[in-house]
Amino acid sequence: MSATAAKRIKIKSQERLGALMREHFLDLDEAARDPQRRVAWCTSVGPCEILTAMGFETYFPENHGALLGARRVSHELIPRAVAIGYCAESCSYMTSDIGSTLAGVSPLTEAFGIDGPPNPDLLVYSTNQCREVQDWWGFHGRRTDAAVMGVCPPSHLGEVTREHVAFVSGLLERLVEKIEHRFGATLDRDRLKEVVALSSRASALWRQVLDTARARPAALTFFDGVIHMAPVILMRGSQKAIDYYETLLAELNQRIADGVGGIPEERFRIYWEGMPIWPKVRELAEKFFDLRTVVAASTYCNSWAFDEYDGGDPIEWMARTSIEIFINRDEVSKQKFLSEMFNRFEIDGAIFHNARTCPNNTNSRFGMAQRVRDEMDMPVLVLDGDLSDVRFFSTAQTMTNIEAFIEQLEECKR
Ligand code: SF4
Repeated sequence: MSATAAKRIKIKSQERLGALMREHFLDLDEAARDPQRRVAWCTSVGPCEILTAMGFETYFPENHGALLGARRVSHELIPRAVAIGYCAESCSYMTSDIGSTLAGVSPLTEAFGIDGPPNPDLLVYSTNQCREVQDWWGFHGRRTDAAVMGVCPPSHLGEVTREHVAFVSGLLERLVEKIEHRFGATLDRDRLKEVVALSSRASALWRQVLDTARARPAALTFFDGVIHMAPVILMRGSQKAIDYYETLLAELNQRIADGVGGIPEERFRIYWEGMPIWPKVRELAEKFFDLRTVVAASTYCNSWAFDEYDGGDPIEWMARTSIEIFINRDEVSKQKFLSEMFNRFEIDGAIFHNARTCPNNTNSRFGMAQRVRDEMDMPVLVLDGDLSDVRFFSTAQTMTNIEAFIEQLEECKR
């Protein structure tokens, strides 16, 4: 059976995911209209557990940026942000989200029948991923009455030390004080422990989900992962995310038992380093399917697989996990992580995505791709593109490069 004739076996849990997302966004929309409830916007690896424990409903604008990219409307909206002074080469999540606000359109309307993102009472960021989020939140703070607060942890860390964790814990404690003061609320520390435990459980399950790609054939691919990761970002700290991942994990383990893979007759296993190319996710998934090559692991999907919470100080756990993330580390630590991932998932070749508008989550700019190739003897391909803005992406060129890369892997195998 040729790969093109082979049938893709869908992950059934995706239907449940659709319903879960719908419930989530309808509830957020309701919360924003209810004077008794409060909505906080938070960065994707920001201190959302504190917000949940203090009774805020949390919304993650980066997900909106990804959705705008996946719906292929970013390039129409970015010019609106550029017209008010944002550089066309700055984060396309940010510029497309700002453009969408200025245009008064959102894919959430078509998807869930709501006007758009919920109005915020509070905007909270952490620059553990990039400084762009601070400026992005600043835009929304200026256009609404919402307070903007954040933490700026130390970045590009090699070893994460006790001093680093203590410093960031202090930043988070001050953030709590500011929220308490502004909203007349008190953080219930026991409730925070509960939320952190739920968050950690969802994250641990998410890691197990990703690990099912270690099987041969891999039970899921990177392109499945970028869809199924939504609950661990949007709903972590809730039982809903845990329930979802327990169901998904059971299904994936059954696929392993039945010998069902994301790619039939899998020939090669690839690592994806960097951001997804949201407008092209489907086309890229089909290309790799036809090439019988599984993108088995990625830095991106692993960004929400945190170390487990041990029941100690929840603020300390939040501080540590927030600075240990890949994007916040130095080149040596990143390379060590990649080496472990290549071994763990038995990777044949690595693709580095040079995302034009996200230097923060692009790791091919300071020689890492070459070092990986030379020091780890790993075939490497660098793809030029972007997370959301299709103007930085050539489909024909990319597909040709991927085909040539797979031919190179075939040569290596021979
Ligand atoms: S990490 Fe990159 S994509 Fe994400 S918000 Fe920052 S600049 Fe944008």
